[in-house]
Amino acid sequence: MNALAQRPLAVVRPGSTAEIVRLVALAQQQRVPLVPYGGGSGLMGGALSVRPGIVVDMKRMDRVLEVDAQALTVRVQSGVRLRPLGEKLAEQDLLLGHDPWSISIATVGGAIGTNGLGYLGGRYGAMSAQVLGLEVVLGTGEVLRTPPLRKRSTGPDLTRLFIGAEGTLGIVTEATLQVFPQPQQRTLIGFTFPDFPSGFQALLEMQRRGVQPTSMDLAADTWPVDLQDRRDLPASQPPLLKLVFDGLTHEVEAQSTEARRIAHASGARDLASAELEEYWTTRHAIADRWAQNPELREGKWLETPYGKSQFDFLHMAIPAARLLDFRPRVFTCLQSHTVSLCEEGVWIWPECYALVLYCRQTRDNDAAQSMRLATDEIYQIVQDIGGSIEYVHGVGVRLGHLMQRELGNSLAVLRSLKTSVDPDGIMNPGKLGLGMKAGD
Ligand SMILES: Cc1cc2nc3c(=O)[nH]c(=O)nc-3n(C[C@H](O)[C@H](O)[C@H](O)COP(=O)(O)OP(=O)(O)OC[C@H]3O[C@@H](n4cnc5c(N)ncnc54)[C@H](O)[C@@H]3O)c2cc1C
Repeated sequence: MNALAQRPLAVVRPGSTAEIVRLVALAQQQRVPLVPYGGGSGLMGGALSVRPGIVVDMKRMDRVLEVDAQALTVRVQSGVRLRPLGEKLAEQDLLLGHDPWSISIATVGGAIGTNGLGYLGGRYGAMSAQVLGLEVVLGTGEVLRTPPLRKRSTGPDLTRLFIGAEGTLGIVTEATLQVFPQPQQRTLIGFTFPDFPSGFQALLEMQRRGVQPTSMDLAADTWPVDLQDRRDLPASQPPLLKLVFDGLTHEVEAQSTEARRIAHASGARDLASAELEEYWTTRHAIADRWAQNPELREGKWLETPYGKSQFDFLHMAIPAARLLDFRPRVFTCLQSHTVSLCEEGVWIWPECYALVLYCRQTRDNDAAQSMRLATDEIYQIVQDIGGSIEYVHGVGVRLGHLMQRELGNSLAVLRSLKTSVDPDGIMNPGKLGLGMKAGD
């Protein structure tokens, strides 16, 4: 269990917006924190209780309220899980545009709370692009409803305020999402590149030429040998690029032909179609295993006689023009802290850069401390070059200490907005770097 976690006073499972309104009134009266909880798959501790409070488990509010196949929208209660929602839409030949690894566990409310990104994001956008309107119970107990329209010009769009807010401003009870027609064609293509920079440059060239994959995944495995032996992990191999194109048949053919031409001009070789099929059909498997295995949920990855060796996953937004200069700075930093690189990659857009890191616990090395120092140093470099420390998982408790540096005076603006919709500070205190209030 996370060292910051506190045992909640209670877990409630509301069945309606009206019940949540009553719960907020009670929490205000007693100055007790409320922690919204969807599927509990968030990786930053956003749904963790860090003050004894009430966990608001949205499990019972999982109804699909209305599918409008003409307007291409769906209205849902926020506790609905993404996989059953996607299956329900598919019955009407519609597509849910959000397809994260964790599709079987995550809920619509959790994806909104973290502003998640999924495999189909290149064409259909991140979660923020798919939410049209919301119903939210604020920390004042008021119910706010934003109009579920694609476009209006009557003041700032308050819907966006609650996306990525991690439940710190209110509890999302309903959402209207944009949905999409099932694509006429879906094509997968893939390549190996001689090295990471040539794969990355090919992606930039595709972008310049108007190639817009539905899904893009450039990844290089460099797992340390001691881990390959112990954990059945892949040996180091040249970077692989997988691209998926969705749409009308002609469109998909034109896009994939141009992508192939650019990749081959950069020295790439084609991947076998069986490998691509396997990649796509097993894309949710890691998260399914995570959901079923309490050991993974607790993050117990690798015990050694000296303690726990450490893994970490960094998902940073880096200005594309800076990425190839940024990488060597990262590698120098990792080396100085004896942290190993296991995987690097970009996902969906060239700006979204991820690292998997490992630090071995030995008699002389405090792995947790080395990992913390290395990752905080990397995050500082990211901020210095105009990037963002996280592009997909949110802030939670994990990155709160870096939010002042990340947002500058915007953090004060965010705090005053919070005060106006949550004057008693009962909504998920201790998250997003907004500080604690209720229960202090
Ligand atoms: C193996 C693995 C793979 C993953 N892959 C991806 C991925 O590909 N893409 C991705 O985006 N994420 C991914 N995640 C992270 C996680 O699945 C997402 O952040 C997901 O959107 C969280 O949804 P949840 O319902 O589990 O939310 P929770 O973990 O329950 O909550 C997340 C945050 O949202 C808040 N919240 C939950 N419900 C509400 C509500 N109704 N109103 C207001 N706030 C609320 C919580 O308080 C918390 O701050 C992955 C996680 C794992 C374990």
